[in-house]
Amino acid sequence: MASPQGFETAAIHAGQAFDPTTGAIIPPIYQTSTFVQDGIGGLRGGYEYNRSGNPTRTALEQQLAAIEGAAHAISFSSGLAAEDALIRSALKPGDRVVLGNDAYGGTHRLIERVHGAWGVENVTVEMSDLSAVAKAVADSSAKVLWVETPSNPLMKISDIAELAEIGHAAGALVVVDNTFASPYLQQPLALGADVVVHSTTKYLGGHSDVLGGAIVLNDDELAKAVAFQQFAVGAVSSPMDAWLTTRGIKTLAVRMDRHSENAQAIAEHLVGHPAVEAVYYPGLSTHPGHELAARQMRSFGGMISVALRGGPKAARRFAESTELFSLAESLGGVESLIGYPTEMTHASVVGTPLEVPANLVRLSVGIESLSDLLADLDRALPRR
Ligand SMILES: *Cc1c(COP(=O)(O)O)cnc(C)c1O
Repeated sequence: MASPQGFETAAIHAGQAFDPTTGAIIPPIYQTSTFVQDGIGGLRGGYEYNRSGNPTRTALEQQLAAIEGAAHAISFSSGLAAEDALIRSALKPGDRVVLGNDAYGGTHRLIERVHGAWGVENVTVEMSDLSAVAKAVADSSAKVLWVETPSNPLMKISDIAELAEIGHAAGALVVVDNTFASPYLQQPLALGADVVVHSTTKYLGGHSDVLGGAIVLNDDELAKAVAFQQFAVGAVSSPMDAWLTTRGIKTLAVRMDRHSENAQAIAEHLVGHPAVEAVYYPGLSTHPGHELAARQMRSFGGMISVALRGGPKAARRFAESTELFSLAESLGGVESLIGYPTEMTHASVVGTPLEVPANLVRLSVGIESLSDLLADLDRALPRR
């Protein structure tokens, strides 16, 4: 279901009709908890109470659905809150999820430790090995196949179209976490997936000033079930957060082009550096997922992981030595960030099959001047 408009047009205009009362070109932030009724049950535009709906959130949801080419989008207070509502809508105790052995640590923690306690089981598998996935899905009678591509932090690429077929053949719902690529670079629903999950905290928001998540899908019944979970539990985006995310999305396309350009140049530069053991970036022709990524994505995105020759000590020192790349969790903002996954984003998976190499450093390449970014990395890398 491709959007009839170009991506950039939809990103800027979907859900963004000007305010009919004043002509304000930007729809206002409806900072309100409740809505006055014209007589009991007389709702204006269907709005009753902020947990069930708010016009600012509706504007964001229309925009998100349009840019993923979907019928429905539901906006949450965080990416993990969105995942939680989806899992509770799609699974019941005794059901199983198959997910990649390098899924986002927070996703694994949620499924293993929160839903695990309520009887949802999980199986981890190497997602780039399609026959292993088919076997895992069939053997476990999985209800959900959870795909993340590119994956975090090893930037593995999985074949969404093939995995959708494998999942559907076994009767599983196919979910893609599209956070790293963003809808500008990758359109999982068009490739056959059933549900897209986002942490809108990252590229969609794009300015490191908001926490949010979304579930995007075509199925009416499942959309209703997810919306019910949200209404009954309450993990909604606040009006201010929804508005900030909406503003971020309008520039997603131009930001992603620059993130990809900068990251490609940095990855190519790091490949030859004597302190670097390996560079994980799907834009490199040596990356095992390069050709698949070139087919499945518009460009290769802004995330790079680097393994250092000097082991964990060198990796930690590098992560603590950059100046322009700020040492912080998260990703996808206009400003560059650096992280040490083992003790930061992926601390929760140490000792599990999802553990990441201890000499790994992750870069979220921002859209600053490329020459400044390169100089900062060169200054911080060990000299040998
Ligand atoms: C950050 C992230 C999440 C979780 O989103 P929050 O907004 O932090 O709750 C999920 N998946 C991926 C790939 C992420 O990077």
